[in-house]
Amino acid sequence: MAKPAPSAGIASGQCLCGKIAFEIDVPARWAWHDHSAASRRAHGAAYATYVGSWRKRFRITKGESLVASYEDAALKTTRSFCSKCGTPLFYERARSPHMINISRALFESRTGRQPLYHIAIEELQEWAYTGEPLVPLKGYPGVVWQRSKKKRRGTGEDLFELGRGGA
Ligand SMILES: [Zn+2]
Repeated sequence: MAKPAPSAGIASGQCLCGKIAFEIDVPARWAWHDHSAASRRAHGAAYATYVGSWRKRFRITKGESLVASYEDAALKTTRSFCSKCGTPLFYERARSPHMINISRALFESRTGRQPLYHIAIEELQEWAYTGEPLVPLKGYPGVVWQRSKKKRRGTGEDLFELGRGGA
C-alpha cells in the first residue's frame, strides 16, 4: 500500500440531519464511482461515489453513537448510515482493513482526489444521467430535459409530454 502523503488540511462532512459529522486529512487516498448493485441499493441512487481514506486519517467528530451499520456477510462489507436520517455514510471492506470509504456527496469541500475511477461500469444503468445535452423544458422553469431523439406522439398526460407542447 502506498504511504499517505503529508496532510495538507482537513475535509469535513456531515449527514443530512447534521447529527453526525466527520473529517479526514486530505488528500484522501482515492475516489471513485461505484456502479455495483449493492452500492446502488445502499444509496438508492444510480451509483455511489466514494472517497477512500486511510482509517487513521479519519475521525468521527460528532454523533458517533448515532452511527448504525449493516454487515453484509456474503460480501464481507459493512455499510454505516445515520440512525436518525438514514444518510449512507461509510463503506468498509474486510479485505481493506486500513481503509474507510466515505460517501463523496457528504463532504463540504474538496478532498484532494477527483473520482476518476469506476467500479462495475458494466452495470451502469441505462437511466443514469451521463452528461447528455439538456435543454429547458417549456413551461416548467428550473426543469431541463434531454430532448428525445425519437419523434413520438405525446399522450398529453404526464408532465414531460405536456411540457413538450408545440416543440
Ligand atoms: Zn443524520
